[in-house]
Amino acid sequence: MIDIGVNLTSSQFKNDVNQVIEDAVNSGVSTMIVTGTNIEKSRQALQLCTQYPDSLYSTAGIHPHDASSYTEESVSQLSTLLNESHALAIGECGLDFNRNYSTPVEQLSCFEVQLELAVELQMPVFLHQREAHADFLRLIKKYRSGLVGAVAHCFTGGQGELESYLEEDLYIGITGWLCDERRGKALNDCVHLIPENRVLVETDAPYLFPRSLKLPKKQRKRNEPQYLPHIIQTLAERMSINELVLAQLTITNAQRFFRI
Ligand SMILES: [Zn+2]
Repeated sequence: MIDIGVNLTSSQFKNDVNQVIEDAVNSGVSTMIVTGTNIEKSRQALQLCTQYPDSLYSTAGIHPHDASSYTEESVSQLSTLLNESHALAIGECGLDFNRNYSTPVEQLSCFEVQLELAVELQMPVFLHQREAHADFLRLIKKYRSGLVGAVAHCFTGGQGELESYLEEDLYIGITGWLCDERRGKALNDCVHLIPENRVLVETDAPYLFPRSLKLPKKQRKRNEPQYLPHIIQTLAERMSINELVLAQLTITNAQRFFRI
């Protein structure tokens, strides 16, 4: 299985990242794509890839929360990182007007610069969107014809949002948000509409522990890539697809999308 989004450079993994990777591989998650969220984190993600060249790949980009860290050098720094063989996509990038850790103005320009870079380098984009659907969609439409591929990572929306993304031929990344009976209702009601060749799976670990996974309480605080099979199992039920068939579909889709 392939976890397309895992934040292995998070401080929550600093004491046992090797064990976390080993546990994932032992549970059948043979490939993980480490999310880059700013220049430094993207560099660290690539560094980690060099220690596990057979299991890890990464993205390089600037998350909307980090848009204020964008400088004149950022594009050339990102280009250098994206030139590495283990860097597969630009991101995560996008818009997050939920908490506005960076201002909307900073986010919009930082996102657009990365979309331009993706078109120039002909690399796929790993997208983040929260409470910014209209502006996000406007920019996707503007660049879509030049983009080789795009995934709406950690999709948490409902049918309307999903359909507008599928119209732009986006891939859809599903996380353990699906396993949350309180927050995940709209998502649960629409995942059956995702075409079989556009579905991807991810844990977004250490965030978004899949709430329906029964573990001793103290283990439930941190999500890990080894829990990806639980997300696939839940998604298979909602999509009315055999679990093993879905696992294989998500592998094939990830290999096509990231060109691995
Ligand atoms: Zn995200």
